[in-house]
Amino acid sequence: MIKKIYKVDEWQIIEETFDPTHHEMAESVFSIGNGHMGQRANFEESYSGQTLQGNYIGGIYYPDKTRVGWWKNGYPEYFAKVLNAPAWIGIDIYVDGEKLDLAICKIEKFNRTLDMKQGLLKRAFSVTLLNGKKITVNVVRFVSMARQEAGVIYYSIKAENRCDIQIVSYINSDVRNSDANYDEKFWNTISSEINDISGIIVAETKKTAFTVATGFTTVVEKNGKLVTLNPACEHKDEQVSQIFSVGTNEGDEITICKLVSINTTLQSHVDDLIKKCKANLSIYRILGFNQLLQEHIDIWKQKWELSDIKIQGDIEAQQGIRFNIFQLHQTYTGTDARLNIGPKGFTGEKYGGSTYWDTEAYCLPFYLSTAKQEVAKNLLLYRYKQLDKAIENAQKLGFTNGAALYPMVTMNGEECHNEWEITFEEIHRNGAIAFAIYDYVRYTADTHYLSDFGLEVLIAISRFWKQRITFSKAKNQYVMLGVTGPNEYENNVNNNWYTNQMACWTMKYAAEVYTSVSKEQPSKLKELTAKIAFKESELTDWKAIVENMYFPKEENLGIILQQEGYMDKEQLLVTDIPVAQRPINQHWSWDRILRSCFIKQADVVQGLYCLEDSFSLDTIKKNFKFYEARTVHESSLSPCIHSVVASKIKDLDKAYDLYLRTARLDLDDYNNEAREGLHITSMSGSWLAIVKGFAGMRVKADMLYFDPIIPKQWQSFSFRINFRGHTLLITIGKLQTEIMNISQHELTIKIREQFVLLPSNQSIVHLN
Ligand code: BGC
Repeated sequence: MIKKIYKVDEWQIIEETFDPTHHEMAESVFSIGNGHMGQRANFEESYSGQTLQGNYIGGIYYPDKTRVGWWKNGYPEYFAKVLNAPAWIGIDIYVDGEKLDLAICKIEKFNRTLDMKQGLLKRAFSVTLLNGKKITVNVVRFVSMARQEAGVIYYSIKAENRCDIQIVSYINSDVRNSDANYDEKFWNTISSEINDISGIIVAETKKTAFTVATGFTTVVEKNGKLVTLNPACEHKDEQVSQIFSVGTNEGDEITICKLVSINTTLQSHVDDLIKKCKANLSIYRILGFNQLLQEHIDIWKQKWELSDIKIQGDIEAQQGIRFNIFQLHQTYTGTDARLNIGPKGFTGEKYGGSTYWDTEAYCLPFYLSTAKQEVAKNLLLYRYKQLDKAIENAQKLGFTNGAALYPMVTMNGEECHNEWEITFEEIHRNGAIAFAIYDYVRYTADTHYLSDFGLEVLIAISRFWKQRITFSKAKNQYVMLGVTGPNEYENNVNNNWYTNQMACWTMKYAAEVYTSVSKEQPSKLKELTAKIAFKESELTDWKAIVENMYFPKEENLGIILQQEGYMDKEQLLVTDIPVAQRPINQHWSWDRILRSCFIKQADVVQGLYCLEDSFSLDTIKKNFKFYEARTVHESSLSPCIHSVVASKIKDLDKAYDLYLRTARLDLDDYNNEAREGLHITSMSGSWLAIVKGFAGMRVKADMLYFDPIIPKQWQSFSFRINFRGHTLLITIGKLQTEIMNISQHELTIKIREQFVLLPSNQSIVHLN
């Protein structure tokens, strides 16, 4: 059931009334983050209603001991979890001794707004407490894009009657994850201190020993004048507080500025943490709220200048895409190659904040086009740095000779997932990681990446495919048995077409890269082959497989077969499933799902999306038509890829419907699960649906290419991209496409079959 809770607006998400039943969803939707840390939209003051407290720091995780029913050899020992970190936002308010709690008092007015242009969470409300006192509160909160350690809160209270107000500003390290496997606490508090100026708690993660110093300082003013330099200080076990008591008359305004620094051993030596944290707090106090705000807004301005998408004539679609772009920037900024993009980003605990194939298959193109080249490169380097672990992972499963199997779910390169059908069988993820290297190089022309890092990864993955593929005497062809394709509603299938394709594609590409590096960087190649003991005969083995691989087909219908045996299933269409039984994963037994023909997410279509140039338009059309009709899109990653392919085959209505479903998935809570966190990785799918889908952007033969179409609901849409040192602004209208080249150098591109020269700092208009 779609929920339409928030006001439609181009730049803001606005909730105009407080409904406790939607509060946890709002806590996800209004989350804020800066690529290093993120905070759910929990209230600053105490709230006794239903809430999912969440405050996460990228790269700080806990290896929670695996919990499974039946242990299988090869299962990982732990599931890494991003941790709910020490709480920094707490500001309790007492009015004439009564605690402010929105679950209890009478709410006269309420507004929660996410200002996406400036990266701010705002809240305004007026309440009457049980004791009859009324106050009006305005809050602005952000985690700074300019300073990765800084969290800032401006909390103002207007007294509507004469009353005494007590403010307890605190930090607390007694935090837990709600998804802990054994209900354990993941932190040890190491030290805590509090004084008039600041308070600091140092906490360490159990087992992984990451140390985090969370420090805060509070400045309270009444009608613009400092309340006191000497607040009362309270020191409880795992909480330190500064307490301010202020008498107010009707109309008085109290403002609380809480400045927080979160320093971790990811950035500093453990012995320096407290010093650094204190130094930050002093700087933040000198800068003050306004300056911290300004520098934060300035960075957001730059981000939007590079990545905004404007849609004229469809405000819902506009809000959807900006929300998605906003959340992607909040999740990953690309300044640290140790970090990655969890499917829920910093907005919830589900998926453990770990890295999935989602990053390469869905997110990479967004960062490639809308941020500096290093940002996408860091995503690739993340996997390069984990290559040794991927090799170890394959060794644990019995593979040899430097074969690498990247994990399905990981934090530090080790596999964390423990369902056999996914951990051992959903090996297509290796293909996505290889394909991302190709995607990066074809976009940036950074061929050095291949000789420096890429080829080593490609060889290790190809070695895995070579050993995982076997020869069938019966077929006289190579086969790949016992896999799970992207469609997780089928397990242990033979010859999943997508996986077979990606495996062969990788071996072919690895061989091509090998040849080009041997020509262009022979000494580097020599170094590499010596390091990994590579023999040229391996190329011959790969070639033999590529040339004689089995790809299942359905001859009668003239389509690709998702896997062997797919046509033995009762062939129904999604339209045959009663609406009340959707989503099927919430209504059907797993057994029934596995036996049905219904497909969770793009599988054959995923392959046609990646490898489109190897197939005729007619093949793509036929297969899309067949498989989309059987796809229930019960992964958030599904509609977007279908939308891109629907645009390619010019099924515009379908492309538009699927786009909207991706872009507003969380805002409208399509799957009734936004309270657990947002679908961050599929958010880049909305971008793909517009840029690769409607605008038809590709890189072909080293040249940027467009094949634009526009949904009938839109008057025009425009977006910016970075391409090899050029910034382009592309505006697609009903009749024409305008491209502005905002750079010092001309660029030749192709629009459909026509070459178009874009002179520097000029725009050209092309009739659609
Ligand atoms: C999808 C996977 C995906 C994971 C995390 C699952 O539901 O089937 O493809 O990697 O979610 O987003």
